[in-house]
Amino acid sequence: MSEILLEVNGLKKHFAVGKSFFKKNQKLCKAVDDVSFVIKQGKTLGLVGESGCGKSTLGRCILRLHEPTEGEVKFNGTDLVHLSASEMKALRKDTQIIFQDPFASLSPRMTIHDILREPLDTHKVGTVEEREAKIAEVMEIVGLRPQALNRYPHEFSGGQRQRVGIARALVLEPRFIVADEPVSALDVSVQAQVLNLIADLQEKKGISFLFIAHDLAVVQHICDDVGVMYLGRMVEKAPSEALYRDPKHPYTRALLSAIPVPDPTFKSDAIKLQGDVPSPLNPPSGCTFRTRCPEATERCKREVPAVYNVGKNGEEHLVACHLFE
Ligand code: SF4
Repeated sequence: MSEILLEVNGLKKHFAVGKSFFKKNQKLCKAVDDVSFVIKQGKTLGLVGESGCGKSTLGRCILRLHEPTEGEVKFNGTDLVHLSASEMKALRKDTQIIFQDPFASLSPRMTIHDILREPLDTHKVGTVEEREAKIAEVMEIVGLRPQALNRYPHEFSGGQRQRVGIARALVLEPRFIVADEPVSALDVSVQAQVLNLIADLQEKKGISFLFIAHDLAVVQHICDDVGVMYLGRMVEKAPSEALYRDPKHPYTRALLSAIPVPDPTFKSDAIKLQGDVPSPLNPPSGCTFRTRCPEATERCKREVPAVYNVGKNGEEHLVACHLFE
């Protein structure tokens, strides 16, 4: 059984919104609200939900690109939340991020070589020769030719730029990567290539991933577990196979039913959710999904649902919904 690499307990990120001298007049945006999960060594957790559900904020809080408001983020037993800047810098070598938009995240003034060399220099990894060997190795892993090293990000296609983003995340040999919607900005044909590359890295390098996506179809084949977020909370989490076979939460069921099926004779019975995601500044009372839930009752207005484990045979399948009390 593999060991736990990342353990997140009761993580919260609340942003104060509006300028007011008095704290009581400020509104709170609960972007991440009491989220807990673990990721084992070499495993991948997919995190899915519509835009604005807090999944990217959660990924950034784990790496302390945002400071969490409350909670624990234990990486290999060390709580990252209370580390000093210099202690955190040492751990950054092990924890990396791949951004959604590779064009915005790569400096336009640096060559690909310099982009890959910079983290090795910052962390003083090996000798000059070893750094150059590492750069050549990651270029090969991500399928880019050595000639590309002297070129600039704007000279590449979106898919190639994302390969550079992945190479930069890999160059320090991290143990854990937050992949923040790494294929959302890419064409569908290129998406498959990048997903295959990430699946390869899981298998060959044993890297653990938090893979963030807004679409359940994207994470289906590369995640061991999947968590579904809605308005800052994890509403369902289960092993991938169980979640796709037998989704429990009404929101997960709606998301899954909306995945297109490539068969013109297939009659879709997609569950249509009413309205948009409510503002996190003014979330509904009780269950925050109740304004769009086809199964909402009076109780859902009054009470925040507890989290129930509905897994069979010792499997953990968590769902936050009164229907499973
Ligand atoms: Fe729907 Fe109520 Fe369950 Fe929330 S608690 S998902 S509103 S049935």
